[in-house]
Formats: sequence, C-alpha cells, structure tokens
Amino acid sequence: MMTDNLIIGGGVYGAAVAFELTGRGAGAHLIEASHIGAGASAGPGKRGVRASGRDPREIPLIRQSRKIWPSLHERLRVAPLFEQSGHVMLIERAEDMAEAEARAALQSTMGIPTEMVYGDAVRDYEPEVCDQVCAAMICPGDGVADHTATTKAYAAAARAAGAVVEEDVSAARLVCQGSLATGVECADGHHYPVTGNLFVLANAGVSALVGGHVDLPVWNNAFQVLLSTPLDDVPIRHLVGHAHRTLSLKSEPGNRIMISGGYQGRWDYERQTGQTVASEIAANVADAVAVFPSLEGIEIEVADAGHLEAVSIDRVPVIDRLPGLDNVYFATGWSGHGWAIAPAIAALLAAWALDGVAPAELAPLAMSRFTA
Ligand SMILES: Cc1cc2nc3c(=O)[nH]c(=O)nc-3n(C[C@H](O)[C@H](O)[C@H](O)COP(=O)(O)OP(=O)(O)OC[C@H]3O[C@@H](n4cnc5c(N)ncnc54)[C@H](O)[C@@H]3O)c2cc1C
Repeated sequence: MMTDNLIIGGGVYGAAVAFELTGRGAGAHLIEASHIGAGASAGPGKRGVRASGRDPREIPLIRQSRKIWPSLHERLRVAPLFEQSGHVMLIERAEDMAEAEARAALQSTMGIPTEMVYGDAVRDYEPEVCDQVCAAMICPGDGVADHTATTKAYAAAARAAGAVVEEDVSAARLVCQGSLATGVECADGHHYPVTGNLFVLANAGVSALVGGHVDLPVWNNAFQVLLSTPLDDVPIRHLVGHAHRTLSLKSEPGNRIMISGGYQGRWDYERQTGQTVASEIAANVADAVAVFPSLEGIEIEVADAGHLEAVSIDRVPVIDRLPGLDNVYFATGWSGHGWAIAPAIAALLAAWALDGVAPAELAPLAMSRFTA
C-alpha cells in the first residue's frame, strides 16, 4: 500500500481520517506533535454528542454522525463508546422560550426529533432542578461518548488497517510547488513528502500551518472541565444544558458529575499547558448549584484546562480545501463542539480527497462564508 496521504494531527479528526482513508484502500501517514489524544480529543470526563442547540449548518452533519455513533465501536473493534442519554436544555427565563420553541421546531423538521416540555413536566426528566426552571427542550437522540477511548480506538484501527502513525513529530511548514503541496517540513528539519493529499487537522495548530495561504478568523481557547468527587446521590439524569447559563452537566462513572459549558482557563504558550482560574471554577460551580440546589457543597476533584480548542468567529467550524493548493484539506474552528460531528466529517473529508467531489454537506462550512 502506498503511503501517499499525509495527515497532520493525532486528535479524533486526524485518527478518524486515517481510518477512513485506509478503509477505502488508500494509504495514510499521520504525524502528531505529541501523542495520540494530546489535544482536545482527550482528557477528563466525556464529550457531548449533541445536535440540540447547534447551528443549523451543522445539523446535517450531526444527523449523519448520530447514525455512525451507536455502532462505531463495532467498526473499531472496541467496547461501546457512545451512550444515548438524551439532552435536556433547561429554561429559567420567559425571554428564552421563543428561541427554544423555534429551535425545537426547526430541529424536528431537519430530522432531529425535539420537543418542548413545560412546568412540572420538566421534573419527569430532571426531578431535582430548581423552582425557577419553567420549561425544557428535550432531544432524546443526543448522548455522550468516551472521547479519549474513541480517539485512541480510531488511531489503533487505522494502524491495524495499515496506516503509519508517528508521534513526537511536529510539522513546521508546508512545502509547495505550483498548485500542490509536495511535502511538510518538520521542526527537527525532517522532510515528509506528500505524493497524494495533505490533511491539516491540527485543531489549535491549523492557523499557524496554513497562515501563509489563508488568514483564518480563528483563535484558541482553553475550555475548563470540572469533575466532582463521588456524590451520595447523582441528581443529573441526562446530558444537561442551559438556555442562558454557561453550563453543561453530565453524570460520570463512580457517582461523579462533570461540570463544563464554556468557562475558560489560561493557556501558557511557552509551556504548552493550560491552567485553571479560580474565579472561573467558582462561577461554573455556582451555575450548577443554582440549577441543581442539591449540589450545594459539591467538591471538585479534577479541574482541567489543558486541552486547547480552536474557536471561529461565527462559532461554526471552518472546513475547506486550502486556496491555491489542490491537494490540501484543513479543518479547524470547532468552537467547543467538534466532537459530536467528527465521525461524519472524517468520512466526508476522506471521500472528498479520494473522489475529487466536494461534499454538499461541507459547503456551508467553507471559507467562502467569510469572503462572499
Ligand atoms: C474541554 C472541552 C470540552 C469539549 N466538549 C465537547 C462536547 O461536549 N461536544 C462536542 O461536540 N465537542 C466538544 N469539544 C470539542 C471537541 O473535543 C474538539 O472539537 C475535537 O476533539 C477536535 O478534534 P481535533 O482532532 O481537531 O483536535 P485535537 O484533538 O486538538 O487534535 C489536534 C492534534 O494536533 C496536534 N498538533 C498541533 N499542531 C501540530 C503540528 N504542528 N504538527 C503535528 N501535530 C500537531 C496536537 O498535538 C493535537 O494532538 C470540547 C473541547 C474541549 C477542549
């Protein structure tokens, strides 16, 4: 098998594209600056596989991904990775109702069954919410996945199918000739030839690598994740979100809960590590306690901000072929929700490069939305 396609980045996207390429009989060579799952595709807790509340441009992609998630573990030959917990978005303010109702209707029309429940009916789903919760948007098909296990499983399955996966190899710049990338030069001076396609799937590292070719309206954030100590009673029944609070809650193994939603730590670019910020931790916990009062006094065992994520100006990923280079594909700007859609996008990227036809589902995520 020719190793003709080079992939930069060993997160879920790089590993899944390597898997999809080898599955179609193509060669794949992945280089990762650190180790598989060093970035946003690994770390404490689980990741939400959520369609509800997403930008309508992403709905066709999450719809496709939700078909893949339940049996993905069989393709990767590992234990189950996805759990269909359902998503409950809680509403406390009357002014958030109209948007939720519009979303529920649109999502249902787009193939993501979603319903609104009002008043005490919310407590049939989440019995322990505070009195102020007056409605909820329910999306039964959503769930959670073990991101660390999935990323490693994709990489292992790609390897088993013949992909070369190299760790501790940091790409420094693309080498181009005319309208093609012909190689990648690494930080240690090593040159990797590209005779097929080049996939730049390095998330927070994409902007720097494609910078000479395109200016992406994308920056990096170190989102915070908190894991509680074991609780006597876990009050969270579903993947829970909130209409106006920066809050996402999941139950985790060992009677723990995960608290996240978008609060941020600080990234140290010199050391390449993230540190949590006490006020952000306190604010995240306060939101959780406000909505689930029985969490009062909850203790945090793990506070993490060590997984950098690229965020785009309109909070929708940027996925495209690099302008002026016919064989280079990039994807970034996941904005905290690249996980759920990864299986579908990886398959579409591999198909695009091998078949030469741009998938219609990816068109709304192209660079042209910033230049038209
Ligand atoms: C705290 C947190 C919570 C999240 N929660 C959710 C959620 O609930 N639902 C959801 O859908 N999404 C969620 N996301 C987003 C999702 O996890 C990411 O969008 C997704 O994992 C990105 O995958 P990736 O492969 O593009 O990036 P990464 O996993 O970051 O992988 C990129 C890899 O590229 C490597 N790299 C970088 N530069 C170079 C270089 N120059 N050369 C070689 N390698 C390089 C890095 O070391 C890294 O391993 C969350 C993200 C975070 C951080």
